[in-house]
Order: sequence, then C-alpha cells, then structure tokens
Amino acid sequence: MASITLNNLVKKYGDGFPAVNGVSLDIADGEFVILVGPSGCGKSTLLRMIVGLEDITDGDLQIGGARVNEKAPKDRNLAMVFQNYALYPHLTVAENIAFPLRLAKGKFSEDEIQRKIRRAAETLELTDHLDRKPGNLSGGQRQRVAMGRAIVREADAFLFDEPLSNLDAKLRGQMRTEIARMQRRLGTTTVYVTHDQTEAMTLGDRVAVLRKGELQQVASPRALYEQP
Ligand code: ADP
Ligand code: ADP
Repeated sequence: MASITLNNLVKKYGDGFPAVNGVSLDIADGEFVILVGPSGCGKSTLLRMIVGLEDITDGDLQIGGARVNEKAPKDRNLAMVFQNYALYPHLTVAENIAFPLRLAKGKFSEDEIQRKIRRAAETLELTDHLDRKPGNLSGGQRQRVAMGRAIVREADAFLFDEPLSNLDAKLRGQMRTEIARMQRRLGTTTVYVTHDQTEAMTLGDRVAVLRKGELQQVASPRALYEQP
C-alpha cells in the first residue's frame, strides 16, 4: 500500500490545450478517491499518467513518497482495471488471475501462486469458476476475474477506469457491494473513475471533480451530493 501524491501534473498531447492542466492532490495510504467529470475532462489521461502508460509533460508524481515520473509501469507496482476487462480468452479463470504472478518469473513458488489464486477466488466468489474460460462467464464474473488479477499482485494501489459501466444495473449493484467488501478487507489505496453517483456515494472517501483538465473541487461524497 502507498500514498499517491500529484503535484501540479500536466499532460499535453501535441501542442493543443493541456488534457491535464496542473492537478495537485494528496491521496492518503488506504484512501479511496473517486474521480468524476464530463467526458474529455482528462480522467483517463490522469489515471494513465499515474500508472505510467502516458508520459508526464510537467509536474511531479510520487508513490509512497518517492518520485516515479521516469519509472516504467512495471516498476510502479500499481494495478489498473479497465472497463473492457482485457482478459486472455484462451486461459482459464485461474490462469488469468495468476498471469501477473507468472510474469514475475521465479518470484513466486507454484504453491504460493496456487494459494494466492485460491485466496483471490474466495474474496471475489470465483471459487466455482476457476477452470472456466472468460467466454463462458457473465460480465460481472469477468469483471471479478479482472479484479482478481489486480489483487493477487498485492499492488500498492488500484486504478479503476469505469470498471462497472458495461454491466447491467443488477450486476453493477452486486459488484459495487463486492468492491466495498474488497476495500474493507484489503484497504488498498484506490483511484476510481465513474459517472455513477451511487458508486461515488458508497465507495468514495473523497470525490475529486475534474473539469477541462483542472481539479474543480475535492470533497466528501456527502458534502458534494447532498448540497442544497
Ligand atoms: P476523459 O477520460 O475524462 O473522457 P481523456 O483523458 O480521455 O478524458 O481526454 C482528455 C483530453 O485529451 C480530450 O480532449 C481528449 O481528446 C484528449 N486526448 C486523450 N487521449 C489523447 C491522445 N492519445 N492524443 C491526443 N489527444 C488525446
Ligand atoms: P500472508 O499470507 O503471510 O498474510 P500475503 O503477502 O499473502 O501474506 O498477504 C498480505 C496481506 O494482504 C494479507 O494479510 C491479506 O490480508 C491481504 N491479502 C492479500 N491477497 C489477498 C486476497 N486475495 N484476498 C484477501 N486478502 C488478501
């Protein structure tokens, strides 16, 4: 686990208007921050800069107090979950979950890998589905596999980009409950992009409102959504 500090972060694509224009935010270790804002305001760009998929044009990014601007994604130990799952169709649920562990060649023994798969499957109620392929799973189950893959790594933080937006209302409700449960259990620092006010209310410690690349407001969900 780790804190995340954004210090005047800027992202310019080409020579246009900055997609992210001087964002500063201190995210405490274990805090769950919701990121909201209209389409095109820079939410994905901000997440991608934190995880290292996008170069930082200006400013300073710290994870656990250490500057990581120049660090490759694999050296940042963050787990990102996208809305389109990105599972491997030819691998079973168990092997999809184990993928990041096998990538870290030799770091984990086979026993450890099996133990971590079992534990993630219990947390996410996937125990009965470990031998299935993603193609035979519901959207909610697939999303849980994607999260399983994120939690086995014991990443310092989770970054979620609208993870539930492709699910129907019922599954969204279930997944919301599961994410809240996972958060209570793991207490991992999380930045979570959503358009859904209920998700923001149930999951967020704080909500950061982004507009045209700038932070407009940061407040508790209550203060933000229960204003007169
Ligand atoms: P959001 O996630 O809030 O919808 P984005 O971060 O995707 O916003 O986009 C922020 C701004 O940056 C938009 O104006 C978008 O068109 C622009 N943008 C995003 N990605 C690229 C890219 N790869 N090249 C050029 N412009 C981009
Ligand atoms: P240990 O098994 O010795 O506790 P780990 O490195 O496996 O060590 O896990 C460290 C902590 O992270 C655990 O105490 C546990 O609370 C939490 N944790 C890790 N992975 C999971 C998981 N898949 N489900 C629930 N909790 C987990």
